[in-house]
Amino acid sequence: MAERRRIIEGSWNCTSCGARNIPARHKNCPSCNNPREFSGKESEFDFGDVDAASGKSTREGVSDEQALGMAGAGEDWFCAYCGAANRGDGARCRQCSAERGSDAKTAPLADLGPKPPPKPAPQPRRFGKVALIVVGILSSCCLGTCAVGIWGNMKHELKGEVVATNWRRALVQERFVPETRSGWRDELTPTAPRMPVNGTGEVAGVTNIRDCVSRQRGTRRVADGTQRVCRTKTRKVACGTEEKCTRRDKGNGFAEEVCHDVTKYCNESYEDCDTETRYRNEPVYAQQCAYDTYVWKPVDTRELKGTEGPPRWPDLTAGTNERVRREEDYSVLVRYDDGGVKQHEVKPTREEEFVAWKKGQGVTLTVTNLGKVEQAVRR
Ligand SMILES: [Zn+2]
Ligand SMILES: [Zn+2]
Repeated sequence: MAERRRIIEGSWNCTSCGARNIPARHKNCPSCNNPREFSGKESEFDFGDVDAASGKSTREGVSDEQALGMAGAGEDWFCAYCGAANRGDGARCRQCSAERGSDAKTAPLADLGPKPPPKPAPQPRRFGKVALIVVGILSSCCLGTCAVGIWGNMKHELKGEVVATNWRRALVQERFVPETRSGWRDELTPTAPRMPVNGTGEVAGVTNIRDCVSRQRGTRRVADGTQRVCRTKTRKVACGTEEKCTRRDKGNGFAEEVCHDVTKYCNESYEDCDTETRYRNEPVYAQQCAYDTYVWKPVDTRELKGTEGPPRWPDLTAGTNERVRREEDYSVLVRYDDGGVKQHEVKPTREEEFVAWKKGQGVTLTVTNLGKVEQAVRR
């Protein structure tokens, strides 16, 4: 691909008289005749704008002998005595005739490479980094609930008093009785029942499997042919060429521009098609049958309740093919003041634990700021 080169002439502003946009070929100001110097940004040249897409300079290139000769003379040097800018190929200062020293300085070269795309305007930040960090650490928890969570988990201690104790004990009498049930044939294994001895060792049994009928047990997914499925996608394809240009500062008020043609890529949409298996749900049938078995059924309940003293069991004896199941339930009510009178219920699981609580006894409660009682200890 052919390269195209151009020389772009920069321009400078005179700090002595204020003249602006002086072409680089003038090393002295055309208005006041002061020499261009390193200081005061006089040697920072403006090379004009470039086209955003191609990077091509919007200025015309120069083609006259004089300008091309200056552009090709190398970087300018600044006289150590008078400060004037001189051609790179000159050995003496054109202003004061001083010799060019080995330490004569040159201007730093400007970076004329492609400009990075403009940065998006910064987001307004009220919580800014703090919010981001908090969200990062506790992603499941937003700033607000975190603060409430931390405050809510803080605890304080309160004094309370036992105002009531309650116990309930019940005996549930159950009998092992025959029952007809239904089940899937392949899950039923004929088993002889066995009656309990002193309420244990029983076997429910499966006998007399009968009256089997076909019933739907569920569904299964089965392949049902294929179907063609297409999705629209995009891909990059070559679509001709486009011009791309770069510029290089020559250090003497001129810049060299190099342009060449590169392949251009465009988005193209296309259909991406696949053959996929189609599925449908098919009912699954199985044999459902009736059978005989035994189950425990409650036949009687005796209950005793009280507020104080040792809890007692009611009177109930198990007969043949029977058992007695025990239920016990204990409750201690503690009253305390947490910005208003409140009650907390302690639920002891065993009798020894329950009888240790006495009405009128002092209690220390540990309560969170959200009002949850975490602990209640007798004093
Ligand atoms: Zn001037
Ligand atoms: Zn000089």
